[in-house]
Amino acid sequence: MQVIKHEECPQCHGKQTAFNGAAQQLVKDGRVKQFLACASRYSSVIGTQEVIDNLKVGESLPAITIYTDACVKCGCMYAYLIEIGSVTKREKKPTLILPPNRRPGNLS
Ligand SMILES: [Zn+2]
Repeated sequence: MQVIKHEECPQCHGKQTAFNGAAQQLVKDGRVKQFLACASRYSSVIGTQEVIDNLKVGESLPAITIYTDACVKCGCMYAYLIEIGSVTKREKKPTLILPPNRRPGNLS
């Protein structure tokens, strides 16, 4: 997977972001483990619906995830992290359908 990081605002070159900046402060304070926060996250598989529908098990398509956040200095929204990878179609596991009285937590 290719990861592209933009560690500063493209407009003012500020380095602090609203959501992820606050999240990283919580990490720094030891209150939570490492995690990413963002204003929005877009994920998409790249391909036409026909290509996606006809994908065979084991075949892959490119997939991109973009994390955006706002610069606290100037308010510019920008993509601070872009992940470019792929997804592989897997075999679907069979779904076990149980009547309500046999579902986990309701077994007696
Ligand atoms: Zn900025």
